[in-house]
Amino acid sequence: MGIGPGSSEHLSKRACDVLENVESVAGYTTYIDLIRHLIKGKKIISSSMTKEVDRAEAAIAEALSGKTCAIVSSGDSGIYAMAGLVLELCVSRHIQIMAKSTARNISVDSVALEKTSIKRDCLEIEIVPGIPAFCSGASLLGAPLTHDFASISLSDLLTPWEVIEKRIDSAAFADFVIVLFNPKSKKRSFQLEKAQKTILKHRQKNTPVGIVTSAMREEQNIRITTLENLHLADVTMLTTVFIGNSSTFCYDGFMITPRGYSKKYDI
Ligand code: SAH
Repeated sequence: MGIGPGSSEHLSKRACDVLENVESVAGYTTYIDLIRHLIKGKKIISSSMTKEVDRAEAAIAEALSGKTCAIVSSGDSGIYAMAGLVLELCVSRHIQIMAKSTARNISVDSVALEKTSIKRDCLEIEIVPGIPAFCSGASLLGAPLTHDFASISLSDLLTPWEVIEKRIDSAAFADFVIVLFNPKSKKRSFQLEKAQKTILKHRQKNTPVGIVTSAMREEQNIRITTLENLHLADVTMLTTVFIGNSSTFCYDGFMITPRGYSKKYDI
């Protein structure tokens, strides 16, 4: 499940209900801390950032033992987060998965061949959506995503840097607004400046750039700068970076990407 950006106000009603009803909760320590007041008395399976596979395995084992277990991610659980990993692990372990009750009713075309298997353990799964950082961050900046946008993670732990750079270059060439996730970490610092240089090949130096750190958390910090000065900005692993397209502009501290109304209507 996704817990949204961090504050209880931005946690969905469904997420609250699920947290109230599960027997155990698995997650990265920082996310567990954000919801600790909601999960008093529950068994907690927490671990550090790079231990996602261990955490997912432990949660699956917990569920297979008959307990209800929520695996929490920040933002949305399907965006650079745990939902995909959990499903992949179920596939590789030949675990049969079923959508929880009526939460999902889907028909699969016969052409979309599914991996089949022998006698299997069985799990009921519900994926609870949450507000992703590109929505929470965008709302704090104004309306930077009103037109087409591309979301790119700068983490090259699981994706080769050449692939990431190609995607940045293509998105910049095609004039997408670009949202950069995982822009920096303690061990990873060169990627943001490289991304800046690649985007500058296609975009003006004064293109507005929104930088949102710890959206909807106590340490929240919002800043608008230009593409030319992006490398000077304070960016951490809790930051999401929004790079405007060729029409994005700023007005009274709001970052706005027009959809095109003013060309068609007299607004
Ligand atoms: N599942 C998450 C993304 C996880 S990847 C989501 O849907 O938002 C981790 C990255 O998300 C961070 O490096 C940062 O770029 C972004 N992020 C997560 N929470 C954030 C927050 N509260 N404020 C700003 N960026 C955030």
